[in-house]
Amino acid sequence: MPTTQNKDYYATLGVKKTATPEEIRKAFRKLARKYHPDVNPNDKKSEEKFKEISEANDILSDEKKRKVYDQLGFYSDQIDPAQAEAYARQQGHGGGPVDFGGFDFSGFQGGGAGAQQGGTGWSSFKDIFSGIFSGQQQERQRTRGPQPGSDLEYQATVDFWTAIRGGQARLQVHRQDTCPTCHGQSTTGNPMSCPECNGTGQVTQMGGRMKFNIQCPRCGGTGRAASDCATCHGQGVVDRTETVEFRIKAGTRDGQRIRLQGKGNAGTSGGAAGDLFLIVRVGAHPIFTRTGDDIHMTVPVTVPEASLGAKVEVPTIDGRAQLKIPPGTQPGQKLRMRERGVESAQHAGMRGDQIVTIQVVTPHLQDERSREIMRELGKLNPQDPREQLFEKI
Ligand SMILES: [Zn+2]
Ligand SMILES: [Zn+2]
Repeated sequence: MPTTQNKDYYATLGVKKTATPEEIRKAFRKLARKYHPDVNPNDKKSEEKFKEISEANDILSDEKKRKVYDQLGFYSDQIDPAQAEAYARQQGHGGGPVDFGGFDFSGFQGGGAGAQQGGTGWSSFKDIFSGIFSGQQQERQRTRGPQPGSDLEYQATVDFWTAIRGGQARLQVHRQDTCPTCHGQSTTGNPMSCPECNGTGQVTQMGGRMKFNIQCPRCGGTGRAASDCATCHGQGVVDRTETVEFRIKAGTRDGQRIRLQGKGNAGTSGGAAGDLFLIVRVGAHPIFTRTGDDIHMTVPVTVPEASLGAKVEVPTIDGRAQLKIPPGTQPGQKLRMRERGVESAQHAGMRGDQIVTIQVVTPHLQDERSREIMRELGKLNPQDPREQLFEKI
């Protein structure tokens, strides 16, 4: 089994093993200033060195990571400080090097020759690291199992008349579609063995005098090195702009949600696609305004029509209709035309109303006779419409 070399992070930063966090911080900053890629452009050696000191700093400046490193001689985020300490205590009394090379954390394969060498330390060792086993299993499911696609939400503007009468509407959406090359599997070609672990899924780490195996960091323990799909760069999905056609029910209201199952982002490795949610935005009309199932509009009438009352023709969503203006109708007054609104999508057979706001158009009098009649009308109806204003001061 391949062995990864342990690194002496203390030597890398040039500090003692007993260095305080402050000393580590200072040492790193000093070295970082010297080897930073900005200071040494195109210098491969400095770049390497900078990576090394950054890695050392990452481990040693973190109290938890440093504890694990101090106990084992390497750091793995699969091992917490308590486990590392327990492990080091277990092995602390031993004489020669202890080889745990055959131990298989994953539990999926049989142990190698080393399994028999574990001796009495074996079962307790396994107990201590039982947490790793479950952690690793979760990791595998996360990286390899079917991943469902996420839902998408779009606003869909629907024409005023389509919302009322129903029909088809279209919308361009950007969504992740299953990659046509790898069919959502993320990888192409025959899965080969991972070159880091030779397909075993594990590499051996030196922990002081001990050797033991951890999940291969390169292949994540799969042992496979199938190459990422070139089309989707290993994502399993590709971005796509699609025109989605959907049905609009008659009477659809502004703000209503429509769910198109499976039209969201595609899943990977056989995971189900998400849904596409459309929030309907009903378009405007030059004279009709819609509130729920009611239609609002303003209708101008003449002074004689408002004063004497009249039957006038007004537009409705079904065409022309008669509206009765009662005598003495005032500007701003609202008249209700029952069941002349939108047919309800929620309650079959129900309809909203049309609500008409009256606007009175004052005549521009062009001739003397008309002006004479108007003056006479004023004399016959001596009212002061501003009287009420003064009462309220
Ligand atoms: Zn692909
Ligand atoms: Zn590997």
